[in-house]
Amino acid sequence: MKRALVVQTAYLGDVILSQPLWAAVKRAWPACEVDVLVQPQWAPLIERDPDLHEVLRFDKHGAARGLRGLRRMANRLRARQYDLALCPHPSFRSALLLRLAGIPLRVGFDDSAGAVFFTNVTPRDRAQHEVDRVLSLLAAVGVRPPDAIRAPRLFVDQPNADETLAKWGIEPGARFVCAHPGSVWATKRWTPEGFAAVLSDLADDGYQPVVLGGADDVAEANQVQDRCRTLPLNLAGRLSLAELALLLSRAALLVTNDSGPMHVAGAVGAPLVAVFGSTTPALGYGPVGSPSRVVEHPLPCRPCGPHGRRRCPLDHFDCMKKIKAEEVVAACREALTGDAAT
Ligand code: SF4
Repeated sequence: MKRALVVQTAYLGDVILSQPLWAAVKRAWPACEVDVLVQPQWAPLIERDPDLHEVLRFDKHGAARGLRGLRRMANRLRARQYDLALCPHPSFRSALLLRLAGIPLRVGFDDSAGAVFFTNVTPRDRAQHEVDRVLSLLAAVGVRPPDAIRAPRLFVDQPNADETLAKWGIEPGARFVCAHPGSVWATKRWTPEGFAAVLSDLADDGYQPVVLGGADDVAEANQVQDRCRTLPLNLAGRLSLAELALLLSRAALLVTNDSGPMHVAGAVGAPLVAVFGSTTPALGYGPVGSPSRVVEHPLPCRPCGPHGRRRCPLDHFDCMKKIKAEEVVAACREALTGDAAT
């Protein structure tokens, strides 16, 4: 096996949860050049991974959209002469891409929309965590991944980290806790009042409060900031993904919704508390990689879909509204004192 490709062109969390797969390929065939294909915005986060030979960008919603873009990318892949492609991403387009690229061994899940284009398929076990599901693809090529590889890892650039954090307003040695109140999906967002109460209580405990978020989360972050008793450092919209990973690698804790940054925290070893609403960890995307606690409210309507939703179909949104700040604060204090489950 001289060259292998992992295709994961979905969301940030999916990319992070696929990291053990390419690490396992490298363990199985140490001389193999392992590449990964992701959407361009996630590439900077994984470019320092020592197991990867190259991170290929597939701008499937932009410059490479449509059949012409697919063919261009297929020609690029064909030129690399891969021996093996592993495709945890279940889309028709990803599977077709690998067929067009003429990769001789193409492995994916049997329920993928483009399963017909794979040469080998593996059943998707919906009861497993996504990390284990993704690793199960290797069974189709006779590889059993080592257990130690199960925790996703991100490789964070550390030189001048203290200066970088100081530039953002976090002094060397400061004990700080972060909140990430955003999510693409409205039903995965806990309340700004809840996040503010948690940050305020932890500030009373002596931790510097920090609010995080991407460019699309600035409104939520500002709402949290406005409700805090102690003014937090608000870095929403100011950090790149690589900078977010660096910051979280130094944080005492992240309290977050079920989101991509939750998986970033897990992959850099940051203790975390995750608040789950319309989704459940049983769907396979719970926190992994670092000490963690999940706070959730039991309701018969949960989960109301495999992903989040734009609004609660029952209009009461009790899955999030019933979660009390005191519960989350208690989980955070347990995590900060090392009592978190892993
Ligand atoms: S239907 Fe239930 S799980 Fe879904 S958003 Fe509403 S309260 Fe939450």
